[in-house]
Amino acid sequence: MAKMRFDVLTLFPEMFHGFLNSSIIKRAHEKGIVQTNLVNFREFAKDRHRTVDDTPYGGGGGMVLKPEPIFEAVDHLLQDVSDRPPIVLMSPQGEPFTQRKAEALARHSHLIFICGHYEGYDERIRQYLCTEEISIGDYVLTGGELPAMVVMDSVTRLIPGVLGNEVSAVTDSFSTGLLEHPHYTRPAEYRGYRVPEVLLSGHHRNIEKWRRQESLRRTWERRPDLLKSVELTPEDKAFLQSLERVQGKRE
Ligand code: SAM
Repeated sequence: MAKMRFDVLTLFPEMFHGFLNSSIIKRAHEKGIVQTNLVNFREFAKDRHRTVDDTPYGGGGGMVLKPEPIFEAVDHLLQDVSDRPPIVLMSPQGEPFTQRKAEALARHSHLIFICGHYEGYDERIRQYLCTEEISIGDYVLTGGELPAMVVMDSVTRLIPGVLGNEVSAVTDSFSTGLLEHPHYTRPAEYRGYRVPEVLLSGHHRNIEKWRRQESLRRTWERRPDLLKSVELTPEDKAFLQSLERVQGKRE
């Protein structure tokens, strides 16, 4: 049995083929850890033309996704399910997606994503069907497929057994609450640019200390907002104060 089942309601299932057939996501499916079920909700439209959208009540531009095909596709998916999974509406009006949210979703074993298109959804889908509404950022995309893939990707890499030794989710940026430290690989010198000596020293404690400090420095420089919600040790605080003192002298 897969550890995670993704059901994706979409009018454009072909958009997922490259995503599902590449890299770590492909391997997670091959290993049987993840199972993805693409559901074209057009198949649940009852009329001859399989209509999934209609003009908005009250007038105005754009087409609105009708409630019936989406409600009925979800009913169909829930037929064989005892625990109701989160039903996630992809929407630019939703909760901003974060690593914390990915961690919370990865604790479930079944997620349903609804990908919108056109002007948006009939509001009853939002009010009475979905349990979550997620935005991947403050910009508007053509459809919910790319946002659903973003969420599925970040959730999948958190499921135990998915990542091999070559990648680690534990030190990834945001997992620790901080941005990740810089990485280097061979050669030790390229065009005169040297890898920091400490990384070549083989001294593990010093390397860990350097990584922690570079992680703190990077977060302090680029995303100081993140530091407010991270648990800092007395050494971390001392290091950050030293950065502030140096900056104070420069100003
Ligand atoms: N008129 C809608 C609004 O202003 O909220 C935008 C509709 S958008 C063109 C069509 C669909 O793309 C949305 O229903 C949603 O599924 C998806 N979408 C677009 N931008 C998104 C974002 N930033 N995050 C998540 N989903 C998004």
